[in-house]
Amino acid sequence: MKPLIPRRVRGVALLVLASIVGAGPLTFAQPASLAVLSRDGRKPLPITTINNQDYVAVDDINTVFGTTSREDRLAGGLTVTLRGRSIVVTADQNVVSVSGRLVSLPSPPLRRDNRWFVPADFLPRAMSLILDTRLDLRRAARLLIVGDVRVPRVVARVDAGTTNVAVTFEVTPNTEARVTTQPGRLVVQFDADVLDLALPSLPPQTFLLGLTPGDAPNTVVLTTGPRYASFRVTTSQADAGSGRVTIDLLPATTTDAPAAPAAVPDSRLVIPSQSPSGGLRTVVIDPGHGGEELGTQGANGTLEKDVTLSVARRLRTLIESRLGARVFLTRDDDRTLSLDDRSAFANNHQADVFLSIHANSAVRPALKGAEVYFLTVERAEAEARKRAGDSATSLPALGGGAREIDLILWETAQARYLEQSAALAGFVEPAMTGRIAMSPRAVQQAPFRVLVGANMPAALVEIGYLSNAEQEAQLATGGYQDLVAQALLDALIKFREFLEH
Ligand SMILES: [Zn+2]
Repeated sequence: MKPLIPRRVRGVALLVLASIVGAGPLTFAQPASLAVLSRDGRKPLPITTINNQDYVAVDDINTVFGTTSREDRLAGGLTVTLRGRSIVVTADQNVVSVSGRLVSLPSPPLRRDNRWFVPADFLPRAMSLILDTRLDLRRAARLLIVGDVRVPRVVARVDAGTTNVAVTFEVTPNTEARVTTQPGRLVVQFDADVLDLALPSLPPQTFLLGLTPGDAPNTVVLTTGPRYASFRVTTSQADAGSGRVTIDLLPATTTDAPAAPAAVPDSRLVIPSQSPSGGLRTVVIDPGHGGEELGTQGANGTLEKDVTLSVARRLRTLIESRLGARVFLTRDDDRTLSLDDRSAFANNHQADVFLSIHANSAVRPALKGAEVYFLTVERAEAEARKRAGDSATSLPALGGGAREIDLILWETAQARYLEQSAALAGFVEPAMTGRIAMSPRAVQQAPFRVLVGANMPAALVEIGYLSNAEQEAQLATGGYQDLVAQALLDALIKFREFLEH
């Protein structure tokens, strides 16, 4: 298919003129256009309504599809040709001949003001035959999809709360999406060629200033506003055929401290039910701190955020080569990321294990050694037990009926995995003991905020004390970082065996 130089403007001008001059008994509505989606992108094909039917001008079809047409005035017909195949169109007859085969149309082709018009159904019924390609006409969305193009229907909704704005994309069929941050905006990229996109107008608020199609045909851009500070993504299965991606735009918060038991965010984490015995396919590694948040700092200037990132990258390489699992880092560069976003990232990637990597600091410079933590959540645990009976909630499904999904309070997500998290920490400790110095209290429980929302086994590793001069020097070296990564790999191998026991 040849790219086109739009002749749309000319076509529109002619149609407008036709409607002004008057067109006999026919009534011309104002011109609109069909979006033609192909692997080459999106092209407009003007359509016009004649006697309540959608019509397309043949010269516009030629422009979009690279066909040629020749009129036979004496016979009152028109031939549309492409690579030796042809369609013979006769005015006022709702049957056309495609390479000798008769194809019916819902209404007859028309010749108006020196232009030929065919009903829109001409495209899937006749054009597809000479193009030798499927043409899918989605009338309601004014789309014509050419060939085997992945075009999920994406319907967006914006809900403005007092402390957040939630943008929800209902995606049919269910399609993976990822969110990347750029200055002043978030880009949602769907695993598709083009999107059949329906975007709403925005309610008045200051988190989100724009919701628009992106430059790439499979993206949507959220232009963030002054109240926006961070985002959280949750995905769920809306029904058998559709998925749902919700992006919560959140204001600035200061939640670096361990979770305050009283603070229960109203945001709920919606996660599709997943089988607990899936093995170890996806690992999310969280390099602590980053960006403006330096973490702890050694006397010689070694920064926790740099050490954690370096260890995380080394561990990723080891896991990918030795464990064959997929690895995602919550950050792969020097950026600021909220604690909740880190666990949300792991949830969004449906990680089977979440490891947060940190370096420690103490007032007493003598303190040294590595420690591994899993979450203590007495309150959340109690809450989770209380809810255990009704955690599978029925929600009304589209088109009636109900479906079962897991609705988990953010605060209680990790509570379900405490036993597995304890086992994970139990494997990390001996694996590190063989390689690096350990703290006297090597395995501990603490209310680390970053672990709270993780909906999978999770542990936080403090790989040494930057406040200790000897350890600062060690932590800055690739050799020590490799030892840590090796230990964590060994622990993950043991943990995988444990999961598959
Ligand atoms: Zn830290």
